[in-house]
Amino acid sequence: MDKENESLTTHYSQQETIVALATPNGIGAIAVIRLSGHDAIAIANSVWKGKDLTKQESHTIHFGHIVDNELVLDEVLASLFIAPKSYTRENVVEISCHASGYIIESIIKLFIKKGARSAKPGEFTLRAFLNGQLDLSQAEAVADLIASNSKASQQVALQQLRGGFSSQLQVLREQLVNFASLIELELDFAEEDVEFANRDQLKQLIIDITRIIGRLIQSFELGNAIKQGVNTVIAGRPNAGKSTLLNALLNEERAIVSHIPGTTRDTIEEILNIQGVNFRLIDTAGIREATDAIEQIGVQRTMEKISQSALLIYVFDADQISPAELRNDIESLQAPGIAMLLVANKIDLLNQEEKTARISGFFQNSGLSDTQTVFVSAKEKLHIDDLKNRIYSTAIKGKLSGDETLVTNIRHLEALQKTEEALVRVLGGIDGSITSDFLSMDIKQALHYLGEITGVVTTDDLLDNIFSKFCIGK
Ligand code: GDP
Repeated sequence: MDKENESLTTHYSQQETIVALATPNGIGAIAVIRLSGHDAIAIANSVWKGKDLTKQESHTIHFGHIVDNELVLDEVLASLFIAPKSYTRENVVEISCHASGYIIESIIKLFIKKGARSAKPGEFTLRAFLNGQLDLSQAEAVADLIASNSKASQQVALQQLRGGFSSQLQVLREQLVNFASLIELELDFAEEDVEFANRDQLKQLIIDITRIIGRLIQSFELGNAIKQGVNTVIAGRPNAGKSTLLNALLNEERAIVSHIPGTTRDTIEEILNIQGVNFRLIDTAGIREATDAIEQIGVQRTMEKISQSALLIYVFDADQISPAELRNDIESLQAPGIAMLLVANKIDLLNQEEKTARISGFFQNSGLSDTQTVFVSAKEKLHIDDLKNRIYSTAIKGKLSGDETLVTNIRHLEALQKTEEALVRVLGGIDGSITSDFLSMDIKQALHYLGEITGVVTTDDLLDNIFSKFCIGK
């Protein structure tokens, strides 16, 4: 256990046994009530009718009754985990009872009467962290895993939980620690003007580490998109077919389709899952010059939504729009950092000849590329799968390799940015032949920020902040 964490261990006394419902509130087949702490098994045993739980082995399940004096509360199963082989590394008992609100409350009250106390949000995972079962970034991954709602977000959280990110940071830290100690040694021999730490090697190391940190920082954009869902705006002139397209993509009739221009007054948000990644599709009001006040708000909102998104799908009526209008729309919608996909809709209204003529009309002398464009019919559901593939590849662009670490947590991003800043100062220091004591200070700063991610360095506030966001029982 690191020095910094000693006081916390006493602060969150593990002498206390905690109890909470680990499954969601409400009626169901089964609920799991969890006890963790030194006396967990003894407390469970004190209200137990069945085999003596204190004499059973770890990782065994027992059938019995929970009794309040002579009154049987429920027929249950008790799973035993004896310290340190449990989630929290403490003694843990999990009672699987019938999920009636009354039974759950009665059993929890009974445990509290026998000496347990109610667990705070995230307290089981906090104990797992304090007892060295998980590091901080892994503990955060537990929360992400619970919140994951797509294959991609679940995979990223699982990789972090398994320690992929942690071990990468651990390697970087160790390398820095080695050099920091050499520099410290120089400080001890300050009078003698010696250099134990070879400056060229140090410089190369810092460059290598900064490069890795830079990659991790860059991965946040995709990591965050995967965790939250990729914000995708569908924009286009009224009647271009945005709502129909949204329906075709979602394969249902949710958005209101109408042939009166400007009926999609407000924005509608729907989740579309493509190859395991969630896209948050936002259908907006038309981008045409607003004709009334309500539509004006819609137009403003469209521009706002576009600026907050990662991908813009611009839909146009391939049968109606003129090349000049198209060019004008695209120019006014283009925004730096936001990928744009053009969707030429209503191709069912064009025959092959017209289509070819129109396409060349759209793209001739416009500087636009038809590779950005997908031709579909939202109404007839033509090429909708092509469009889905293009949405995926435009937003994800083969960036999701499977084993690459993605930073998804803003706290980690900020710590990485501060680490990078400190490393840049170290580099500047080496080039400017700065003295060992200043170099040492900056390296220590970098180590400090890296350590914050995995929790080698923590404060009560930081822990409270992280774990208070967990649900009770986790
Ligand atoms: P929005 O204003 O952009 O949301 O447009 P809507 O989705 O409300 O569609 C406007 C009109 O165009 C409706 O009458 C749709 O049925 C029609 N429409 C949409 N997509 C297509 C298409 O692919 N082909 C044809 N022929 N009509 C379409």
